[in-house]
Amino acid sequence: MLDIAMATRNRHKFRELTALLRVPGVRWRSLAAHPDVPAVRETGRTFEANATKKALAVARATGRLAVADDSGLEVEALRWGPGVRSARFAGSHGDDRANNRKLLRLLDGLPPARRRARYRCVLALASPSGVVAVARGAWTGRIADHPRGRGGFGYDPVFLVPALGKTVGELSPAVKQRLSHRARAARRLVPSLRRLARAA
Ligand code: IMP
Repeated sequence: MLDIAMATRNRHKFRELTALLRVPGVRWRSLAAHPDVPAVRETGRTFEANATKKALAVARATGRLAVADDSGLEVEALRWGPGVRSARFAGSHGDDRANNRKLLRLLDGLPPARRRARYRCVLALASPSGVVAVARGAWTGRIADHPRGRGGFGYDPVFLVPALGKTVGELSPAVKQRLSHRARAARRLVPSLRRLARAA
């Protein structure tokens, strides 16, 4: 069995990511077993920089393989921001309502064609000696005129999936789990995990 640490202390994320990354021969370890692993600050300018920094730090601290993610929202009219600053777009970290209000205010009056956006997720797999694989996933859509739906978190109530005519806040967790940027990145990381599990 290949033990891999999932570099998050968020239980919800742990469950979601390990469900997407279910591979025979791989056993996911949570950081709960490693209270000594220091928190890694996301100071990078790209999702790739943050995900690889976190994966490497956790791999080195635990002495085993580790997977880390970074994700966020990019909006074309904001020169593809807020990007790595998505969580603290309106100031304080993780204030979803304030972030959504700020986003809607900045896009106020723009027609649909100028409201293009995408969620992005980068997953990095590292061993204590270096980065093993990086996988990316994007989910394209549009920023709605006003929030809709109570599902999900973060920007989901204002992120419209045009093909479905719904915001992510209006989608069921199962549908989001199939279509999301995280799901797409995870599907691309699976072949590397299978290779490692076979070689272990
Ligand atoms: P992190 O990957 O946990 O650092 O997330 C960064 C931020 O991006 C979150 O706080 C949200 O604002 C935004 N974000 C990332 N993924 C999603 C998503 O699936 N739905 C809504 N917001 C998201």
